[in-house]
Amino acid sequence: MGIIEPAARLLPRTEPLDPAETGVLTVDLAALADNWRMLARLASGAECGAVVKADAYGLGLAPAVRALLLAGCRTFFVANLVEGEAARAAAPDATIYVLDGLVPGAARRLVAADLIPALGSLGEIDEWAATGHRPKAAIHFDTGMNRFGVPIHEAAEAAERARQITPTLVMSHFVCSQMRDEPRNERQIEAFLDARARFSDIPASMANSSAVFLPQRPHFDLIRPGYALYGGNPTPYAECPVRPVARLMARILSTREIEPGACVGYDALWSAPQRTRIATIGVGYADGVPVGATGCDGKPAGEALVGGVRCPFIGRVSMDYVVLDVSHAPKDAARRGEWVELLGDDICVEEAASRAGTIGYEILTRLGARFARRYVGP
Ligand SMILES: *Cc1c(COP(=O)(O)O)cnc(C)c1O
Repeated sequence: MGIIEPAARLLPRTEPLDPAETGVLTVDLAALADNWRMLARLASGAECGAVVKADAYGLGLAPAVRALLLAGCRTFFVANLVEGEAARAAAPDATIYVLDGLVPGAARRLVAADLIPALGSLGEIDEWAATGHRPKAAIHFDTGMNRFGVPIHEAAEAAERARQITPTLVMSHFVCSQMRDEPRNERQIEAFLDARARFSDIPASMANSSAVFLPQRPHFDLIRPGYALYGGNPTPYAECPVRPVARLMARILSTREIEPGACVGYDALWSAPQRTRIATIGVGYADGVPVGATGCDGKPAGEALVGGVRCPFIGRVSMDYVVLDVSHAPKDAARRGEWVELLGDDICVEEAASRAGTIGYEILTRLGARFARRYVGP
């Protein structure tokens, strides 16, 4: 691939950890900034924005925006008004787009926070026009996602109505950008080019993280990565080109040896085939560890690193706890009070997701509010 270079994998260590904490999420803002700069270089001339919706994919909107501003980012995307207001507080001079578009009743606050909605229908264009003197807006075209966006066959009409406003961006969104060879990508680009032709001098944007790497390089004037900034692999068909940003550690609360046949956890989904050393750690589904990572026969289970050794989840993930089989871990690392790693240098977001039957985006965005958070880097 040439363009995709294996990233440096190491997150900075930030021990010692606070003894009162049972789960710690470390967010490496230097890695976040590096990932943004790498994507900005790949954009080759196009501007690189940043999607910071859903609390910057669960990692914290305000610190993420601050780090991205320092790296040189000037354009941000959020999903909704409230996120937009938070982003505005963190970035007084940035351009901030709201992907929800114009939600009925939201116009006044959008204007007050100088947020630019991504309008997704002719009706939204008219409504937004009524809020001021040619207010700024993005126009979002639907090229196949069928969630929202102006249908391509209404592009001429949209251009007509857009005379009442000041379009600052025309945009669309890919359905299958993680699939490099999917013919839909090409069809969406063609449809977008059609719509864009009606807005000749207006900047255009189509690429999320994965689309930055598509062979067509549909970067246009502005790319809009989210996932890859936060360490998610935008190229599942190749080595991850970005650095991990989130590191999740949990503490061992209890250990024991159990006899063959003894079960672990609710509903006795797992029982010991032989004498087994086990450890209970202080995170569970209330922290965002998916129940899908439950360890029982015949399915992939979550894993944690205990003293550098991978130890599988056994039994059902419960609200506050996960139990590990630590039979093969070094004894001094598998003791009460020690820390284990659930996400980080070795267990990437994609792997944690595939072991839980979900996607990396869900792993990141569900990392719960109960974790202590460390921000390291700029
Ligand atoms: C979430 C989102 C993005 C960012 O996508 P990633 O895959 O996280 O890079 C870009 N554009 C739109 C419209 C989105 O909803």
